[in-house]
Amino acid sequence: MTDQPHTNVESFNLDHRTVAAPYLRIADRKELPGGDVLTKFDIRFTQPNVEHLDSEAVHSLEHMMAEHMRNHSDAVLDVSPMGCRTGFYALLIGDLAVEDFAPILEATLRDLLEAGEVPAANEIQCGWGAHHTLEGAQAEARRFLEAREQWGQVTAS
Ligand code: ZN
Repeated sequence: MTDQPHTNVESFNLDHRTVAAPYLRIADRKELPGGDVLTKFDIRFTQPNVEHLDSEAVHSLEHMMAEHMRNHSDAVLDVSPMGCRTGFYALLIGDLAVEDFAPILEATLRDLLEAGEVPAANEIQCGWGAHHTLEGAQAEARRFLEAREQWGQVTAS
């Protein structure tokens, strides 16, 4: 494979062959015209091009992280799944380091393990209310948490 052209999208410039999931890294940081800073995190659950999350698990993790993460930080703007289903992006207000966000993510996922339901998993609040799995989301959250010590290592050594 030849080198790919540089693009405007930070994650398109990441060589996905070199990363070692699971990991947590900063994908982007942007200073707004008013001086506020936004930090975007790449929360990678599975190894790119090797493994991906089930569609229902991704969807339920999205709902559950969106809900529970806001109990641990007022800075959360967005939590969204990657289309490749290997992880999520989280966008937060502030010039944050991985060390700032990791405890928020860990607390969020620990809450998720204790949860008895997927929030907003219904036809009123969601675009595919039947497409959910509490058990699947919890299994993936547990697996990610078990690798907590590896989150900071983004590339294979
Ligand atoms: Zn939904």
